[in-house]
Amino acid sequence: SRRFNFCAGPAAIPEVVLQQAREEMLDWQGHGLSVMEMSHRSPEMVGIAEQAEADLRELMGISDDYAVLFLQGGASTQFASIPLNLAAADQTADYINTGEWSKKAIKEAKRYVNVNVAASAEASNFSTIPAFDSWQLSDNAAYVHYTPNETIGGVEFFWTPEVKAPLVADMSSTILSRPVDVNQFGLIYAGAQKNIGPAGLTIVIVRRDLLGKAQGITPTMLDYKTAADNDSMYNTPPTLAWYLAGLVFKWLKGQGGLQAMEVINRRKAEKLYGYIDNSGFYRNPVEVASRSLMNVPFVLADDALDKAFLAGADEAGLLNLKGHRSVGGMRASIYNAVPEEAVDALIAYMQDFAQRNG
Ligand code: PLP
Repeated sequence: SRRFNFCAGPAAIPEVVLQQAREEMLDWQGHGLSVMEMSHRSPEMVGIAEQAEADLRELMGISDDYAVLFLQGGASTQFASIPLNLAAADQTADYINTGEWSKKAIKEAKRYVNVNVAASAEASNFSTIPAFDSWQLSDNAAYVHYTPNETIGGVEFFWTPEVKAPLVADMSSTILSRPVDVNQFGLIYAGAQKNIGPAGLTIVIVRRDLLGKAQGITPTMLDYKTAADNDSMYNTPPTLAWYLAGLVFKWLKGQGGLQAMEVINRRKAEKLYGYIDNSGFYRNPVEVASRSLMNVPFVLADDALDKAFLAGADEAGLLNLKGHRSVGGMRASIYNAVPEEAVDALIAYMQDFAQRNG
């Protein structure tokens, strides 16, 4: 009865993970209670938490130079935490504007630091990524922030900017989709509800030398050092989401890790973009070199057909294809947990719809 879910977030979770969670829901491994009923300080929960962190470190190749924090508040809270933790109020931070999520990060950062928008893709209606040699970086930036994958616009960086200041990346919708060299970053953050697990958990991977410099006004709960010093248990963490993320990490390891995921994800994305480009009916506006592997926006030849397209998709068992309200059209999010058969089924439906309406 489960259908294919193309939601941008909260997004699909691997079915085997949900099955395991269901099996363990009433009685976790013979302890006679559910994970969500455990004290976060119990040896069982601490074990679950440590194992999840170890598996994430292994998957992403995260060294001991970095703290891995399991936080709450979503990536949106990080839009404030980052300037508060990494810059003094009179310092400048560089931001790259590649779309809706960059804009939100910029707006929030302006409340706490001087922001220099070093490059913007606004002129191309965010269908491109500004060439690195056009970036006007500050001499003494506290950090450089960018959004490697814009979930709404479907624009992705396939290169990592080489900058002097600590590089900060909102990887909410690309984390774990392919390998990255964590050592190139000062800080990586991501809301969990796309490639990690359920909503309610936020991962921050931060180089330890950046800890302990928070502005005086920083709320205790937003100070990375508080979280790092307390193993992300200064207060009650989102234990159930943390446990489920751990199951997803185990599943990813079983798939062969991030290199294997990249092969699958590229295949899925190439199929879908290939079909869109050759269809003569659907169109993706993003420059070819910057097309997201995870979020594929597309428009129909005539937007008067949008409603019928969505209704038919729903009937065909293809859920959540409506584009973001700010851009309209369609969007297929094809995260790790969306199987290749889902992409095949989507293409078959799109072909059929185009034939009937083209
Ligand atoms: N950044 C990106 C790239 C996102 O895709 C999202 C959510 O979709 C956010 C930030 C906001 O995340 P949250 O809802 O966890 O605050």
